Amino acid sequence: MTTMNIDAEYDAVVVGGGPAGATAAQTLAERGHKVMLLDRCDRIKPCGGAIPPRLIRDFAIPDEQIEARVTQARMIAPSNNAVDMEIGGFVGMVDREFFDEWLRERARKAGAERALGRFQQLSHDPADGKPVISYQPGKASERSKDHVLNIKAKVVVGADGATSVIAKQCVPGADKIPHVFAYHEIVKAPPAGTPGFEPHRCSVYYQGEMSPDFYGWVFPHGDKVSVGTGSAVKGFSLRQACTRMRDLSGMDGCETVRTEGAPLPLKPMKRWDNGKDVILAGDAAGVVAPSSGEGIYYAMVSGQYSGEAASEFLQTGKASALQRAHKRFRREHGKVFFILGIMQRFWYTSDKRRERFVKICEDKDVQHLTWEAYMNKKLVRAKPLAHMRIFFKDMAYLLGLAR
Ligand SMILES: Cc1cc2nc3c(=O)[nH]c(=O)nc-3n(C[C@H](O)[C@H](O)[C@H](O)COP(=O)(O)OP(=O)(O)OC[C@H]3O[C@@H](n4cnc5c(N)ncnc54)[C@H](O)[C@@H]3O)c2cc1C
Repeated sequence: MTTMNIDAEYDAVVVGGGPAGATAAQTLAERGHKVMLLDRCDRIKPCGGAIPPRLIRDFAIPDEQIEARVTQARMIAPSNNAVDMEIGGFVGMVDREFFDEWLRERARKAGAERALGRFQQLSHDPADGKPVISYQPGKASERSKDHVLNIKAKVVVGADGATSVIAKQCVPGADKIPHVFAYHEIVKAPPAGTPGFEPHRCSVYYQGEMSPDFYGWVFPHGDKVSVGTGSAVKGFSLRQACTRMRDLSGMDGCETVRTEGAPLPLKPMKRWDNGKDVILAGDAAGVVAPSSGEGIYYAMVSGQYSGEAASEFLQTGKASALQRAHKRFRREHGKVFFILGIMQRFWYTSDKRRERFVKICEDKDVQHLTWEAYMNKKLVRAKPLAHMRIFFKDMAYLLGLAR
């Protein structure tokens, strides 16, 4: 039997230190397990950085991580009809350059050991069948093919993002998740009073010109702004759409700080574990909300659930414990994902429908229910009559009875 050279052993190795992995590592460390959190730390995650108050509350995010609080949203239809919505609270904006590092450091303070390096592959030790993570240690400039460390664990959390190698290697179906490609430009904020721009208002473009199947956004971040869009349509120019949105929001002459893009999964995976010793979280498990593309909150929630499930597995030795994370996620967020999925499939498919969608947003009850659901991650049950009215209004639009 071949023997593997093992450099260190842990209870759990978490691969990927974004919001999902950092939360999973913190959860495991707080439960007393010996954890390693591996991240390559060589790129700022491309992201609009919008987070709901529920995330700030549940995951105790301090004020200094919140760069801006957006209190209004402007929805812009293909005809340029704009509907301004009062959020009735706020959407927080974080800078992923600092936010992710802060989360990783919090996991370290909770007891997780941090490792810097690029994950290469997961294998199993022929001697005892346990998972082994092989990675090239160090910063990008220091790594070498010839210097690889092998770390053994009892359980592995795969939180290595939307193109997760661990998911593809270990969990069937991972290679079939549909994605949109999202791109944004970080721009220096225009001076106060610039027409088309307001520092506490985000703009959402529901226009085929900005995206044929998703939406375009302008998210203010204090002294910077994220202008972005996404699409799964091959050949659609995300850059041109961003240029157009910059023109429309008074940012054509503003300095560009960074331009970057990344895939965004569109469908959660039906299974997050390999039935043995690997569990996924975050984008690796496909948990990004349809319609909105919101992924940070769901990455952290799934990181917590997967961390707890991995902890239970470590305590009981039962691989069935790993299935709990996905079941719990489906129970608590399945309905919202289902409804948002239907919305995306229906409202984002033509300019005619997008026009109607923005029109529906003029309704004050729609505004209240939408933002309550976003901010608190709960479908609001308090106003049954409003639900009925919105339902019939939606049906009228769907059936073409209303204009
Ligand atoms: C352009 C864009 C805009 C977005 N805007 C928003 C928004 O405004 N609000 C929102 O809620 N969501 C937004 N999202 C989605 C959100 O960014 C993701 O859903 C979220 O980051 C997922 O977190 P994660 O921890 O699962 O993955 P990631 O944040 O991608 O983290 C994965 C981590 O794994 C590490 N990693 C990957 N491969 C390796 C390897 N081989 N070795 C070592 N480390 C590795 C990476 O360094 C990274 O730190 C946006 C996405 C995009 C692309």
